[in-house]
Amino acid sequence: MSDKAQIGVTGLAVMGSNLARNFARNGLTVAVHNRTAARTRALVEEFGDEGAFVPAESAEDFVAALERPRRLILMVKAGEPTDAVIREFAPLLEPGDVVIDGGNAHFADTRRRERELRELGIHFVGTGVSGGEEGALHGPSIMPGGSAEAYASLGPLLERIAAKAKDGAPCVTHIGPDGAGHFVKMVHNGIEYADMQLIAEAYHLLRSVAGYSPEQISRTFRSWNTGRLDSYLIEITAEVLSHIDDATDEPFVDVVADEAEQKGTGRWTVQIALDLGVPVPGIAEAVFARSLSGHTELRRASGELPGPAAAPLGEAEAAAFADQVEQALYASKIVSYTQGFHQIRVGSETYGWGIDLGAVAAVWRAGCIIRAAFLDRIRAAYDAEPGLVSLLSDKGFTEEIGAAQEDWRAVVAGAALRGVPTPGFSAALAYYDALRAQRLPAALTQGQRDFFGAHSYRRTDREGAFHTLWGGDR
Ligand code: NAP
Repeated sequence: MSDKAQIGVTGLAVMGSNLARNFARNGLTVAVHNRTAARTRALVEEFGDEGAFVPAESAEDFVAALERPRRLILMVKAGEPTDAVIREFAPLLEPGDVVIDGGNAHFADTRRRERELRELGIHFVGTGVSGGEEGALHGPSIMPGGSAEAYASLGPLLERIAAKAKDGAPCVTHIGPDGAGHFVKMVHNGIEYADMQLIAEAYHLLRSVAGYSPEQISRTFRSWNTGRLDSYLIEITAEVLSHIDDATDEPFVDVVADEAEQKGTGRWTVQIALDLGVPVPGIAEAVFARSLSGHTELRRASGELPGPAAAPLGEAEAAAFADQVEQALYASKIVSYTQGFHQIRVGSETYGWGIDLGAVAAVWRAGCIIRAAFLDRIRAAYDAEPGLVSLLSDKGFTEEIGAAQEDWRAVVAGAALRGVPTPGFSAALAYYDALRAQRLPAALTQGQRDFFGAHSYRRTDREGAFHTLWGGDR
């Protein structure tokens, strides 16, 4: 047996260190390297007894420490640093070696890098890794792209470190060629934005309409977490809401500035959805809601705008309202996932990736931020009908959303009447109703376009493109 490392990790900030430790704890020999060698030494000093590490201070030593075909994971800053590291390592590698980028790369960069390295005979695997630093150490959800040959060499190692779903299946699968893995990770993050926004709206409604305290809302979320909304995000929201700030003894949520930040993967999801022509209003509203919250100058300038001022509900009504909010949250969540999976389906068709949507749902069941019991349902829906055009048309989801819709409408209407913003709930309901509508006003839009721009239109009764000679001098 070779005494060389089966896998290498370069880039030993929090994500890289934790992934390297996860491999070592699972019995693999791991070569470790970082541009600044002090980090490599620190990792081995602090955690060297967790498993077999081979520290390397130079790129040459790192490459030499790996068994062939070499498998090396880059966990460096996304963007130009990733290109810099590839430029450094590519000349040291040989055909058949596998370079894995576990950073949050844009899938278009991954497609380019895969093409460039393929010309050298080197496999490039752009892989989504979700679950943050804890996931990296204890089991992330992993979404690798790249060639099937690369996955054959790499997959068994990733299966060892991946999170395990309740049925024991590792949360990793070969997503598809070139940028497929990073694309799916991007949409995962877009769905995460939408999930977080919907939960935030539920909180806002329970606070300002039901008049609940953060502690009461925490308890409400804990109870929801035992049902169909069982998920990591609901669980941590309950924790955040019950947290008391040390400095002020006030609920933590009341002392935090209400301006949400973002790193960019949600924005990418929406940008790419626009390019692909896929409607993802739930994800877009979530990105815009964060953006709006940060525009303090707009908010300050609008502080005097008139609106309703309703007193919170009484106790019995509040409890009934909380049940309605649960229905609205669940229905809106189904819609968000419908949009995210639609985007993956269209991306897969556009780029010829052949992505198995049921398998994507399966690898999100554990390890990642959107992990939830609900994902088992989505997997079952795609397993039953792999060609499912819309998740909403799965019989089970159709029935559930049908049962929820009355309360969902009441919540959205009530929020509007009381002046509580619910962009996520409202956009989800509008999407749902647009899909249900027999006729959309798009016919009128086509008439307007033909009137001012002679853009032509199609008819319901005949094939072909038509243009009307509108009156006047047009
Ligand atoms: P990070 O702060 O994004 O990156 C720091 C690492 O990149 C350090 O090892 C640094 O080396 C290296 N680096 C930066 N520029 C370099 C260059 N030009 N050449 C060589 N190395 C360079 O670290 P992170 O938070 O651990 O994330 C690593 C990757 O995982 C990123 O792409 C990130 O987007 C992705 N990711 C992060 C999370 C998360 O929760 N943090 C989750 C999923 C994915 P030095 O020590 O020498 O500066």
